[in-house]
This record gives sequence, C-alpha cells and structure tokens, in this order.
Amino acid sequence: MAKVVCVLYDDPVDGQPTSYARDDLPTIERYPDGQTLPTPEAIDFVPGTLLGDVSGELGLRNYLESQGHTLVVTSDKDGPDSEFERELVDADVVISQPFWPAYLTAERIAKAPNLKLALTAGIGSDHVDLQAAIDRGITVAEITYCNSISVAEHVMMSILVLVRNFVPSHQWAVDGGWNIADCVTRSYDLEGMHVGTVAAGRIGLGVLRRLKPFGTHLHYTDRHRLPAEVETELDLTWHETPEDMFGECDVVTLNCPLHPETENMINDETLKLFKRGAYLVNTARGKLCDRDAVVRALESGQLAGYAGDVWFPQPAPKDHPWREMPHNGMTPHISGTSLSAQTRYAAGTREVLECFFEGRPIRDEYLVVDGGRLAGVGAHSYSAGNATTGSEEAAKFKVG
Ligand code: NDP
Repeated sequence: MAKVVCVLYDDPVDGQPTSYARDDLPTIERYPDGQTLPTPEAIDFVPGTLLGDVSGELGLRNYLESQGHTLVVTSDKDGPDSEFERELVDADVVISQPFWPAYLTAERIAKAPNLKLALTAGIGSDHVDLQAAIDRGITVAEITYCNSISVAEHVMMSILVLVRNFVPSHQWAVDGGWNIADCVTRSYDLEGMHVGTVAAGRIGLGVLRRLKPFGTHLHYTDRHRLPAEVETELDLTWHETPEDMFGECDVVTLNCPLHPETENMINDETLKLFKRGAYLVNTARGKLCDRDAVVRALESGQLAGYAGDVWFPQPAPKDHPWREMPHNGMTPHISGTSLSAQTRYAAGTREVLECFFEGRPIRDEYLVVDGGRLAGVGAHSYSAGNATTGSEEAAKFKVG
C-alpha cells in the first residue's frame, strides 16, 4: 500500500466555507483543442467547492483510504523541519499545486527513496527538479489544460487593469474621492495596441483568441510555429525570438513554462528592448523575470505597469519588492485555482492516481517526465534541467 503526501495551501482564515457565492458551475464538455476533460472513474467531492486547501484534500481521502493507501495532507512545506520534509522520507507519491509549491529539489528527492510519482495538481512542474526526476526514474505528471483558460482570462483582466489604470482608480473610489484627473493621467485604450505573447501554447493561444475582438495587433513567438490557418485567422505576426518581438509591442505577456531555457528571460538587457511605457503581464512563472530588473524598469518608466500572480519563491517573502513596486497589478498565485479550475484538476489528479495504482498508462498529454526522460507534453514544452535553485528562500515567509 502506498503513502501519498499532498501539499496544499492553508484553509481560509475563517475556516472552510459552508456556503458559496454560486450554486453550480457551467458545463464544459471539452477543452478548445478537443482534449477531453479529466475522466476519473468517480469523484468524492462537490464540484465548485474549495478543494485546493488543506481541508479540501483535493477530494482524495475517501478514495485513497478505501484502497488501503495512506494520505498525509499538509501546508507546512518549507525548511528542514517542515512536515513535508519529515513525511517525504517514506512517501511513494507527492502531490503539489504550483500555487503553494512543495519544492522537490535534488536534495529532497535524495531523501525520498520510495518516491515514484510527483504529481502536479495544476500545470507547471518547475517546482520539481526535472533533471533529478529524470536521473531517478521518477514520473512527473501534470493536469494539462485544467486551468489554461482560467489563466488566459486572468491575463486578459491583467492587461485591462494595467492599461485602464483600474487599481488606483478603484482606490480613489474606496477612499471617498472623485479625483478623475488623477485616475486618468495613466489611463489608455487597449484598442490599436500591439500585444505579443511569449509562447502560443494552450494559454498563449487562448489569450490571442480573446484579444482579437479588442481590435489589437497580435504578435507571438514560440519554439514551434502555429498552423498557417491560425496565423491567418488571428492575423498574427510571428517573431523568431522574444528579443525580436519585444520592441514591437505595447503589451507583452509571458505564457511559457519555466525551464532552464526560459529562466530570467526578462532582465535589464532584454527590458532595454521594450518600447518605453510598455506593459508586462506574467502569469507563467516569477523566475522568468529578474525580480529587481522589473522594479528598476517600473521606477524608471521603461515599463508603465507589471501585473501577474506568479512570484519566486512562493509564498513570496513579506518584503518581496513586487508587493510594493509602482504600477503593479499583482495578486498571490490565484489565476489557475478558481473554484472552476479546482474541480477540473482535482478530477484530473484522481484520474492520474487511478491509472498509477491500477497499472494503467497515464495519458500522454499529462506526462512531463517518464521512464528517465522528458515525455508526453513535457517533451514538447520543457527542456531538461533544474529551475528550483533558490526555493529554500520560501521558508522566509514563515518567519518574516
Ligand atoms: P502549454 O504546454 O500548452 O504551452 C507552453 C508553450 O510554451 C508551448 O507552446 C511551448 O512551445 C512554449 N515554450 C516552451 N519553451 C519556450 C521557449 N523557450 N520560448 C518560447 N516558447 C516556449 O502550457 P500552458 O499554456 O497550459 O501553460 C504555460 C505555462 O503557464 C505553464 O507551464 C505554467 O508555468 C504557467 N501556468 C500558470 C498558471 C497560474 O495559475 N498562474 C496555471 C497554469 C499554467 P512548444 O510546445 O511549441 O515547444
């Protein structure tokens, strides 16, 4: 029988909700490319309820315990004295969400001799040292597409929030003011702007499709070019490299995975290529950007705004400069964990566990690493290597 260690974010400060703002979720039959939604044999949770926190347990306890497995759920994930590190030593399966990542560094993997499956309840497995997983033959899987559209919607919101100067204007209203001139001295229309995405995968393409009706000029760069008919339909301008694209755009949005090839792609040098007053939206991963270079660009006016929900490490230390930098539209890492998304990735997690325990193949589209190499979606979107360096800094949140 297996031991499953599941690291989830803390419950709401007032405890698990007893009622919700809405009574149900819309029915979605398939993802935009035709991929089916998760197909577990059963679920033991109510769709639309909070599942990603400790009490929600991703709805897994009944299923796992009825099969004789042990489930340990904790939010205490950082530092050598954390519950996660104590429980890891005899774990067979680790489940983690990118919003509250259980960093699986090479050192931690070395302490977990039984570990066979590192499962991301969400998308983005950069919190796992993929090279160490490859070397140890650990399977890494994620729930592809479960929250890609959730994030595309957040990107749209973030672009509008920055360009329209929403956050300070809202604050004037909250504070009892009516200072229209103060609100609008940084407010523009998105219409007519050039918007470019780094990566046109599930999220990036979703963003491009949503931007089209806004009357914007659309740009993208990716390792693989989109089909010609999609480029024509959306009137896309392709750029061979991000550096070729940056200077053309009023708004840049990052939608690629974090891996050694993409880490730190936004830095002092690449920011110089941007138009003065460009907006940058990053809901992909904090480490795609040099933290302090972003702050400098906002302070100098090279960037007019920065928004997103991803930081490094997570949780971000209380003194992380992105909390207070000028013209930011930051939130904690929430875009992919709406109640709608949680329902999908909890079901997908259950599907992967059923396959794993019953010896059935995990869907290729969920695999990142398998059999000692990048596999499935991972072979397409990631590069081998490690992007977890510095993650021990997440322990600062507990004390700071
Ligand atoms: P996809 O795998 O569908 O898309 C990723 C795209 O990135 C692929 O088209 C891939 O190209 C491209 N890519 C990879 N490396 C590069 C590179 N060096 N330069 C340019 N493009 C590159 O994933 P999603 O769109 O669903 O998700 C993307 C990322 O967004 C995730 O990896 C995750 O980090 C983040 N995310 C954030 C969430 C949040 O809550 N904020 C939730 C979900 C995801 P190709 O395949 O053509 O090689």
